[in-house]
Amino acid sequence: MSSFHKSVRHEIEQSRIIDGVALSHTIDAEVSDAIFRLEQECGQRPHLAVVVVGEDPASHIYVANKVKRCRKVGIESRKIQLAANVSQETLLGAVEELSTDKSVHGILLQLPLPQGMDAREIIHAIDPAKDVDGFHPLNFGRFMAGLDHALAPCTPQGCLRLLQTEISDFQGKDATVIGCSNIVGKPMAELLLQQGCSVTSVHHLSHDIEGKCRAADIIVAAAGAPQLVKASWVKPGAVVIDVGINRLRDLGKKPGIVGDVDFEEVRKVASAITPVPGGVGPLTISYLLVNTVRAFNNQLGVFSDEQLKL
Ligand code: NAD
Repeated sequence: MSSFHKSVRHEIEQSRIIDGVALSHTIDAEVSDAIFRLEQECGQRPHLAVVVVGEDPASHIYVANKVKRCRKVGIESRKIQLAANVSQETLLGAVEELSTDKSVHGILLQLPLPQGMDAREIIHAIDPAKDVDGFHPLNFGRFMAGLDHALAPCTPQGCLRLLQTEISDFQGKDATVIGCSNIVGKPMAELLLQQGCSVTSVHHLSHDIEGKCRAADIIVAAAGAPQLVKASWVKPGAVVIDVGINRLRDLGKKPGIVGDVDFEEVRKVASAITPVPGGVGPLTISYLLVNTVRAFNNQLGVFSDEQLKL
């Protein structure tokens, strides 16, 4: 038996499945507590506006989940539903109105927009103080510069929180992030850098992704490539976070989703791994709630970051 497989066998007993659903309940409780304390101080609750264009069924399921989670923690929410054939100008006008409405503290534009619409122009029209997705260039720049009060993208914040359940000291750890989108990969790499990791970012043009993963203590897979990461890519004992959501129906299989990691194989090698579903997904919504409360607190100037405890 090779030394690789001996160590794999050794690690099997230690492999843990990180429970994103349970962790999301913990964060929701922290958010509820912050809202309770904020309301006692200023007599108001955060209010999130969710803008949805068209009838994409997946978008409507995501929005329903977000609204439900808002209600659960005490965030007021409203859904602005626009027809699929709405003009760019009308959508822009709706977002500009929400940006100036003082009763709205957070604005979320559900993506993707119908074909032919320019999402970037709409995102730029969101008041950066209300940009709870952290997609506005001002927030992105502030976040990349490590400045206070920057609203960072939700999914990478969720990934970091999942990693923190397994790793207490990130300093000097090697991390490989697969995928470099502005929404997940790039801000994920930045968050890990801020924690003191050495980070390798890889993408679809990178050479020897397998080798770059195998050298890592932490792998975050955010490529949108089903079961890309195999056991042989993973250093025994590494922590693996799977961001990918790949619909099996799109692959000609029966309905369901898989991640970017071959879960059944990799769980035998990693020290800890997130499942799909039930890993990163619930945390993305948790950090939407956190960002909404942070945006509200920043706008009203109620607590310092330390007092807010989020
Ligand atoms: P994207 O398409 O914008 O970016 C994908 C990135 O992965 C690109 O940098 C691309 O170069 C790289 N890539 C693609 N195929 C690759 C391959 N075979 N090898 C290496 N790199 C490759 O996607 P995104 O918005 O960053 O999302 C990535 C995945 O994460 C998708 O499956 C998406 O559905 C999922 N996602 C999940 C959540 C969640 O809450 N769980 C949130 C956002 C995105």
